[in-house]
Amino acid sequence: NPLGVTIAKEGEGEGDRLKAYAGAKDFTGLPLSDRTQRGLKDSKFVHMTAIQRAAIPHALCGHDVLGAAKTGSGKTLAFLIPVIEKLYRLKWGSMDGVGGIIISPTRELAIQIFDELRKVGKHHSISAGLLIGGRKGVGTEKETVGALNILVCTPGRLLQHMDETPNFDCSQLQMLVLDEADRILDMGFAGTLNAILGQIPKERQTMLFSATQTRSVKDLARLSLRDPEYLAVHAES
Ligand code: ADP
Ligand code: MG
Repeated sequence: NPLGVTIAKEGEGEGDRLKAYAGAKDFTGLPLSDRTQRGLKDSKFVHMTAIQRAAIPHALCGHDVLGAAKTGSGKTLAFLIPVIEKLYRLKWGSMDGVGGIIISPTRELAIQIFDELRKVGKHHSISAGLLIGGRKGVGTEKETVGALNILVCTPGRLLQHMDETPNFDCSQLQMLVLDEADRILDMGFAGTLNAILGQIPKERQTMLFSATQTRSVKDLARLSLRDPEYLAVHAES
């Protein structure tokens, strides 16, 4: 396989659909909303990277995804597009609360994800917020968190809101993303993640990305994913 892309298996009844999308090289070849297509075009994103070609079709079909690809391979869009599309297809609105949670190991990475979300999602009406602590006090966040649809968070701050914020409700959560799972675990957040996993709905879609496949990432995958597609990108995209 010249692309080094492994597409592990196909769900029943969606084989043809997946095959068509799995062959797509550009974002325009994917069945995305016009709003997302416009966001991608405005941001000058045209050709998909290998991990995006591998992961997005499966994620759009509702599958859990375990993606391995090195830094700089475009993992952010590989999960942001499915999160946005999922909520858009469900006609998610301001009254529906938290529909997507993206967990990142550090504030800096969370800010980068948030910036990319704002760019590619700019034609959508879905709201998004950063829960990363720092200068802004948790009190300020607490006032707004109930109205947000997509949360980009660090693990500690997310759990703090789950435990302390009265109007924090993620009982309708549709999609969980664990980005840089290996780093999250290296930083000692395994216990925090387990506590978070215990407080969110089991019925959801999950995408887990990691640069490396360590033992602890595999353990986390077993805990958080259901019948996932294993997508590993070995070569340059
Ligand atoms: P990773 O999370 O795998 O380290 P990122 O998602 O941060 O990688 O992407 C790395 C850089 O590549 C970012 O600047 C991002 O905007 C850019 N990028 C991602 N996907 C594409 C694409 N399909 N076309 C052009 N640039 C892209
Ligand atoms: Mg990344």
